[in-house]
Amino acid sequence: MPLPRRASLASARRGLLPVALTLSALVALTGCTAATTAVVSVPAPTDVSQLSDDDGYIPEGTSLTLDSELPAIQRLDPQLLEALRAADRTAVDEHGTTITIVDGWRSLRYQEYLFEQAVQKYGSEHEAERWAKRGADSSHVSGHAVDIGTADAMDFLNRFGSEWGICQIYANEAWHFELATSPGGECPQMQADGRG
Ligand SMILES: [Zn+2]
Repeated sequence: MPLPRRASLASARRGLLPVALTLSALVALTGCTAATTAVVSVPAPTDVSQLSDDDGYIPEGTSLTLDSELPAIQRLDPQLLEALRAADRTAVDEHGTTITIVDGWRSLRYQEYLFEQAVQKYGSEHEAERWAKRGADSSHVSGHAVDIGTADAMDFLNRFGSEWGICQIYANEAWHFELATSPGGECPQMQADGRG
C-alpha cells in the first residue's frame, strides 16, 4: 500500500507570503491567558532562507540521523530520543533499516512559519489545522514529536514502535510519531487528524 507523502507541507513551504504574525500563543506560554488581552508581535520568517539549524530547520530533501548534533535532534525530549535510538538499533540490526528524521524539534518561529504556509495553501486556519499546529500547540516545538524520513522506517515503527512506546498519532500523518504508551504497551487509537 503506498504511503502518503509529505508533499502537502513540503510544497506549502515553497510558497512565500510576507506576513507579520501575531503570536497570541506566546501569551498562553506565560500562563496569563485570562488575565491579559495583550498580544505579542514578533517578526515571523517569511522565507525558508530566514530559517537555520537553530530553528530545527532541515532543508527539504535532506534528513538527519539520530546521532546528529543539530538542534532538531539534540532538543528533542530526552526520553523520546532515547526510545528512538533504541528502536533504531533494532531496525538496523534486524531489518536493515535506519531511522532518519526529516523534522524533529522546531523553534516557535519555525512552527508559526509552517502554520502560516498551511493557511495560505489550504485557504483557512480551520483547514490548515488539519495539517499544522499553531506554534505553542505543536509537539514538535516541545520536542515530543518526530517526522520519519523513509517509508521503510515508518513501516517499522508502525509495526514495532510500541515496544519502545513510540506510536503514530494522526491517521493522516503516517510519518509523525510520538511517545504515547509505556514500552511494550498498546498505542492509543489514532486521531483522524491534527484537529483531534
Ligand atoms: Zn510531525
